[in-house]
Amino acid sequence: MYSKILVPIDLSDVGHGKEVLGVAEKLLQPGGTITVLNVVEDIPGYVAAELPDEIVKDLSGNAQKALEEIISGLSGNIELEVRRGSPASAIVAASEQLGVDLIIIASHSPGLADYFLGSTASRVVRHAKCPVLVDR
Ligand code: ADP
Repeated sequence: MYSKILVPIDLSDVGHGKEVLGVAEKLLQPGGTITVLNVVEDIPGYVAAELPDEIVKDLSGNAQKALEEIISGLSGNIELEVRRGSPASAIVAASEQLGVDLIIIASHSPGLADYFLGSTASRVVRHAKCPVLVDR
């Protein structure tokens, strides 16, 4: 059982994210905390220039709202976190700053099922200092 579990969720793969949350609930010790994290990647200027202003301005706010919907209906101590930057580095940094004892991550994006491990998942497995459970 684990007392602090980090569940990074890619908002383009919410279905798998919810499954991973179910795994986290089973492995969480009573009174423990699950932190659900989404990392908003920085958009290159030339891409941002082509997007509507309201989308570019509030990427973090939109991610926060999406995470709130994902956890609605779940009980227990669930915290939400939105960070900016590169997903793998931000996930590893969050795991250290929050002092989590387990990260549960999905193996890859949908449609890339032939890959053993996606790029974010493999970087997190390589660099995290705590145990990482890769869900398939
Ligand atoms: P792929 O390389 O096949 O796209 P990834 O390794 O990027 O796959 O994604 C695997 C998992 O990594 C996701 O299901 C999620 O758990 C995590 N992840 C990827 N991107 C993000 C992100 N921006 N924020 C939070 N978690 C992410």
